[in-house]
Amino acid sequence: MNHLLPSNATLFVALSSALLLGCATAPPGLVYQPPAAGLQAPEAASGFTDKPGWSANKFMVAAANPLATDAGRQVLAAGGSAVDAAIAVQMVLTLVEPQSSGIGGGLFLVHWDQKQVQTYDGRETAPAAATPDLFMKDGKPMAFMEGVVGGRSVGTPGVLRALELAHRQHGKLAWKSLFQPAIQLAEQGFIVSPRLATLLREDSAKPLRNDPTAAAYFFEPDGSPKAAGTRLRNPALAAVLRDVAERGAGVFYEGPIARDIAAKVRGHATNPGLLTEADLAGYRAKTRDPLCFDYRLWRLCGMPPPSSGPLAIGQMLGMLAGRNLAALPPVKNGALLEPSAEAVHLISEAGRLAYADRGRFVADPDFTSLPGGSAAALLSPAYLAQRASLITDRSMGRATPGTPAMLGVPVARLADDRSPELPSTSHVSVVDANGNAVSMTTTIENVFGAQIMVRGFLLNNELTDFSFAPSENGVPIANRVEGGKRPRSSMSPLLVFDKVSGQMVMSVGSPGGSAIINYVAKVLVGTLDWGLDVQQAISLPNFGSRNGPTELEQDRVSPALVDALKAKGHEVRVMPQTSGLQGIQRRSGSGQPVWFGGADPRREGVVMGQ
Ligand code: GLU
Repeated sequence: MNHLLPSNATLFVALSSALLLGCATAPPGLVYQPPAAGLQAPEAASGFTDKPGWSANKFMVAAANPLATDAGRQVLAAGGSAVDAAIAVQMVLTLVEPQSSGIGGGLFLVHWDQKQVQTYDGRETAPAAATPDLFMKDGKPMAFMEGVVGGRSVGTPGVLRALELAHRQHGKLAWKSLFQPAIQLAEQGFIVSPRLATLLREDSAKPLRNDPTAAAYFFEPDGSPKAAGTRLRNPALAAVLRDVAERGAGVFYEGPIARDIAAKVRGHATNPGLLTEADLAGYRAKTRDPLCFDYRLWRLCGMPPPSSGPLAIGQMLGMLAGRNLAALPPVKNGALLEPSAEAVHLISEAGRLAYADRGRFVADPDFTSLPGGSAAALLSPAYLAQRASLITDRSMGRATPGTPAMLGVPVARLADDRSPELPSTSHVSVVDANGNAVSMTTTIENVFGAQIMVRGFLLNNELTDFSFAPSENGVPIANRVEGGKRPRSSMSPLLVFDKVSGQMVMSVGSPGGSAIINYVAKVLVGTLDWGLDVQQAISLPNFGSRNGPTELEQDRVSPALVDALKAKGHEVRVMPQTSGLQGIQRRSGSGQPVWFGGADPRREGVVMGQ
């Protein structure tokens, strides 16, 4: 079997040699081969570990943890579809990357079946009883973490319903078999990765200790966090996954599991929430028409609202379309590459304008329409040309939202950005042997979500993606809390198509809170304008503005870049920018493998294929 390895594969040799699978078997099932004990890519949990990019001819999967990627690879090798692989990957991520995503959270999945793009919205919903003042206390918005920890922030999880819907339409292998990797790993135990261990040591993980279930799972009896290399078994999660595998997602949404979730949320000692069994029973994943836009030679399609991500990226690229970015390639910073000052200037200014519109206009479309009723007004060439004309040689500082011509709806304002984004969320890209593709970003929101655990999985704190304040000076805020509503997201799973051939040429996305938009935009400009491969584009220093300071990635940019931006009037903030980009691109050169994948050097992801 041709299991392709990265060229500097030493870290992975032991793992991959333990993963050999017999020849591909036909549906309906996967026969999972768990990796040999104790083997995992020993890469740094923080900092930067160079990655070479990976090639494959037939299929490929990119995910944030080697065990998850490998589960997806085995599904694809067994003849599974891209959706099948995404399901197996997600279940393993629930176990091995619990800080970021899982069945207690939500996801957006963008799918290409060679005829059409479809999106699946598994975003969490606010409990029916939630009101706009959910995160207000004494007339003021709560502190962010005060809202996060406990039951208050927990939305109805959407992951399983969304994956079930996608599997009904695009699954090839039996649903049941896709849970085998996670069940086996949960029962036999997986090795705690350096990144998980590091995050458990951080102050941000302290509230886990107050939840008896989470404390018993993540900490030793003496109170120390489980160290990297520890074998961790999760029989409670294995039992839930076995149930869901045998009887479908419904067992999660109705019955004892749902009862336990609601009880955990409502019974929280200091910060109870409103989620009921009826909220769980009533949850529906949705398919939505993709949000598509053109950029130069390409057509990009991604998740529409309630995500603000692809819309903001479409606006940024639309504003940049009149600029010759190809003439502004990255420059040398010692042995590294960094974006040029002029490119950072232009992209950051476009970002300010897009984030200003995002803050004003974007919310769950089932509750608040975009100006003009769809994304068309905010993406119209005339509107974006007018917005782009605001970009000059000097930074504009703070941008204000625009007034698209079709604007005929009440203007709502959003509260200021919330507190620091902690590392969370996960991105998965897949192409299967038939050319179907998935771009899926999945989250429990903040690191370790609401920091409460039920039956071996963590519950999300997605409701803190709503505006804490429902209005400003009496003007309602579009993204205020309302019963049944989905909080606005920044997750930007995208697929890129060649406009002429119609071929899918890239699947990409990232975690990173509201900075996701800038991270993904960087990869798009890097690949489409600068001709970088997807790994080079992912590895390029992160940068951009969220309509505040111009943010540059700490330890990755030169003082000259900082100075040049300051000279253009930018307020520069050099800071960690922990993206978790994953991407797969089609290569055009003859004689080359068809697929090339990249994983973020800032996290533990790898790509595998055949
Ligand atoms: N919950 C965030 C969103 O949906 C993502 C958080 C993160 O990436 O850390 O936009």
